Amino acid sequence: MAKRVYLFSEGTKDDSDLLGGKGANLCEMTGLGLPVPFGFIITTRTCREYFQAGNKLPTLLEQEYRVALDLVEGKMGARFGDPENPLLFSVRSGAPVSMPGMMNTILNLGLNDEITEGLAQKTGNPRFAWDSYRRFIQMFANVVLDVEGGLFEKELEQFKKTRGKVHDVDMQADDWRELVQRYKRLVDLPEDPFLQLKLAVEAVFRSWHTPRAIVYREMNNIDESLGTAVNVQAMVFGNFGDSSGSGVAFTRNPATGDRQFFGEYLPNAAGEDVVAGIRTPLPLSALEQQLPAVYQQLFDTQALLETHYRDMQDIEFTVQDGVFYMLQTRSGKRTGRASIKIAVDMVREGMITEPQALMRVSPEHVEAFLHPMIDPSAKRDIVASGLPASPGGATGQIVFSAEEAEQEHTAGHSVILVRRETTPEDIHGMKVAAGVLTELGGMTSHAAVVARGMGVCAITGCGSLTIDCDAGHVSTDDGVVLKRGDTITLDGTSGEVMLGDIGKIEASSSDDFQILLGWADKHRRLRVRANAETPEDAAKARELGAEGIGLCRTEHMFFDAERIVIMRAMILAENDEERCTYLSQLQQFQHDDMLELFKIMDGLPVTIRLLDPPLHEFLPQSSDDINALSERIGKPARQIHEIVENLSEINPMLGFRGCRLAVVFPEINEMQVKAIISAASDAIALGYRPLPEIMIPLVVNVREIRLITRIIDKCIHETARARAVSIPYKIGTMMETPRATLGADRLAPEVEFMSFGTNDLTQMTYGFSRDDAGKFIPKYLKEKLIDLDPFVSLDQRAVGRLMKIAISESKSKKQGIKYGICGEHGGDPRSIQFCHDIGLDYVSCSPFRIPIARIAAAQANVDGNQTY
Ligand code: PEP
Ligand code: MG
Repeated sequence: MAKRVYLFSEGTKDDSDLLGGKGANLCEMTGLGLPVPFGFIITTRTCREYFQAGNKLPTLLEQEYRVALDLVEGKMGARFGDPENPLLFSVRSGAPVSMPGMMNTILNLGLNDEITEGLAQKTGNPRFAWDSYRRFIQMFANVVLDVEGGLFEKELEQFKKTRGKVHDVDMQADDWRELVQRYKRLVDLPEDPFLQLKLAVEAVFRSWHTPRAIVYREMNNIDESLGTAVNVQAMVFGNFGDSSGSGVAFTRNPATGDRQFFGEYLPNAAGEDVVAGIRTPLPLSALEQQLPAVYQQLFDTQALLETHYRDMQDIEFTVQDGVFYMLQTRSGKRTGRASIKIAVDMVREGMITEPQALMRVSPEHVEAFLHPMIDPSAKRDIVASGLPASPGGATGQIVFSAEEAEQEHTAGHSVILVRRETTPEDIHGMKVAAGVLTELGGMTSHAAVVARGMGVCAITGCGSLTIDCDAGHVSTDDGVVLKRGDTITLDGTSGEVMLGDIGKIEASSSDDFQILLGWADKHRRLRVRANAETPEDAAKARELGAEGIGLCRTEHMFFDAERIVIMRAMILAENDEERCTYLSQLQQFQHDDMLELFKIMDGLPVTIRLLDPPLHEFLPQSSDDINALSERIGKPARQIHEIVENLSEINPMLGFRGCRLAVVFPEINEMQVKAIISAASDAIALGYRPLPEIMIPLVVNVREIRLITRIIDKCIHETARARAVSIPYKIGTMMETPRATLGADRLAPEVEFMSFGTNDLTQMTYGFSRDDAGKFIPKYLKEKLIDLDPFVSLDQRAVGRLMKIAISESKSKKQGIKYGICGEHGGDPRSIQFCHDIGLDYVSCSPFRIPIARIAAAQANVDGNQTY
């Protein structure tokens, strides 16, 4: 039979799986010789046993903890249940993973009328004794007997009123004693301390299943089956009088990371009073003045703990009658800014290594550093929530079109662009918007991909909204109606839409961050490239550390107002000659853009994907837009209507797109290749070192690659011959259809690189349309039909398996192929870890995710023994 009960002298900090985080740290502090009130821990395994037995404590458990309890009594010099010399306990939960405040606690356990009298005599402080008892009744009734706390609050308020007392401090011993009798009439309280203890242990186990604990575990992906330990610890009292008190402190500033001991102290108060915030605590300097020896002990203890744990600690302490006690230590929660500063400082101070520092910084920390974030302490009036498509916080007034966005922006207003979905025509509005909110679309929809690329906050798939752009209002399921011009705030990190202007914490940058990124580069194997096509995005990407471009979606280069007209004219061309005229105009734009990219990415690879999206995405949809185009290019509106109709598809993401376009319209690819190669040769002439990698999208078989490679080779040789230059280039393929991955051995001989387009690969593996998935993914997540959105975090089981097959089978045919990923997963830390593990050479992600990817790639590579 496994041991179920451990004394604080029997464990260490490494036992948190068995003893819970709190218990393991109490053991560690006991081992360090710190003044920890003694106690014992009932293991998490016992909690699981309790649940398995249908909420029944193991028969022998009581015997086991009674042995431990005897030893605690010996150590504390007092006895549980003895009115002459009473020992009281706190009974607290403690899970293997920190779940602050989510489960239950009972303090002052072991009191009844007789023992309270005894406590009053022993301490000479009856007021304290009866106050302790009434606190115990309240907590016990609430946690064990499920009685609403409000019932007691009401009784207390009434009592105070009848006695003419205003504050708790006005209550005398007799007042508390009488209140206790009233409380006892409200509930059936067990008098026997041992029964109290048994019921409390059970209640703490049960509190693993309180709704708030379940929600917290869901939100933080904590395993439901872990269970909680129970910490039974001798009570010490901070509310014993003026030379008593309680406090919490951090060994460094948790907001800024500054090396500055920092905390709060509340004289004559129990620990729960500090947490509940009933009075305003004082700075620690107050303790230093009042009880200098105690302060010195606290100061020395925090220094010792930080050195021992090699991390910033969050500690709780109590002073009872001038004697100092430690009640808790744990790694302190901190802001993104603080986490980076502390990690870097601790390496400088010789406390941790560079790899350990890297493991201390979570992706959320980096995100909070790069984008303005909603202040976590601000009140939120949430009216809807959708998918957290692009992180950060943004406030602005509602606009319903890209044009309005531009106008209001020019007039100096911050705007939130609200659309049912976005299309390439909305780009100019998205560019100036503080945030984008759409009713439809998933995490890889147009709005999500484009906003992320621009670093603009976005929420997509907000299905509870009904947006009427023409009428200029949007309504929520709960009947809230928002109009044009109303102010809203988006939290692109959580997906929440809120009314009004909610406070934010601004993004920042620091030398420490650059130092940390430098270490990440030193300790990673995976290369990090950017998904970027505009010069601005490419420059931003390079500034953030991109080692090339892993995906240039050439179609994005034609969204500009002037260019889209030519693009449309090209698509609407009635014969090859007409098409070629427009193509040659497009070629010039394409050339100019490419030249810019080659200059910015001098000496680094630039992967250019040939045109991919279905052509109808470029065409106007509304009659007004069609009429305007008709006027611009001199084609009858009726004819344009007809072509738009012909090209429209029910499910465009599986239709006439990708290399299928090149098969039917090879001249489009020819134009693109000519533009790329002439730009590369111009770049060489200007002294740059372009490294173009031409990528073929949506391939399903090797014949497509051969056909398009012939087109590419022919164009390249013609251009290169005409210009008498030799251009280093590579040809590769996207791997984004299941058939391509399963036939990778056949594709291998024809390509030099393979880039996994996991947006499409996920879509096709699941059969979830990426543009429509936003409608049902939230429900899938809620119902636990899936654990994570597969468009956010790579599905390792099936999509990942296809990737692994593709790599191993292509390698068996040809060595030296470079493998990358350019789907949105390339910026997701969990997916990056997987990409590292399966041996990819690089990940490619939107510019603003590059720092996160650099750190995640390093974390994947360094020894994973550390935790955040
Ligand atoms: C992909 O499918 O993963 C990809 C990168 O291409 P796009 O998102 O442009 O379809
Ligand atoms: Mg794709």
